[in-house]
Amino acid sequence: MSPSLLYHAFGVREGYESVRTDYQQGAVQFHLAVKADQFVCPSCPSGNVIRKGRRERSLHTVPIGLKPVLLVTEVPKCACKDCGAKFEIAPLLPRRMCITLKSSRRLPTR
Ligand SMILES: [Zn+2]
Repeated sequence: MSPSLLYHAFGVREGYESVRTDYQQGAVQFHLAVKADQFVCPSCPSGNVIRKGRRERSLHTVPIGLKPVLLVTEVPKCACKDCGAKFEIAPLLPRRMCITLKSSRRLPTR
C-alpha cells in the first residue's frame, strides 16, 4: 500500500507506514505501524524512548467496492529513559466514516 493511496483514499496522514495487507473473512485489512520519528517523549523533548509493549486498534473506513476495509494500527506503549514518563504513541487517524440517513437516500437500491 503506497503512502499516497493511504493518504488520498483513506485519509491516513503522517505518522504511519504500511507494513502489510491481509484479506481475511471477506475484508481488506491494512496494517500500519508508527513511524520511527514519532517516538518522542510528550513530557520532555527526548527521543531516548524505549518500547514497553503494544496494543492494536482497528478502524472501519470506506469500503473498496463491496469489501469492508479496516485500518489496523499498532499503539506502542513506551517509557522515556530521561524523565521516566510512560505513554502510548497513537498518531491521529481519520474519524470513523459512516453512512448518514441523508446520504443513504442517494445510494441506489437493489
Ligand atoms: Zn521524557
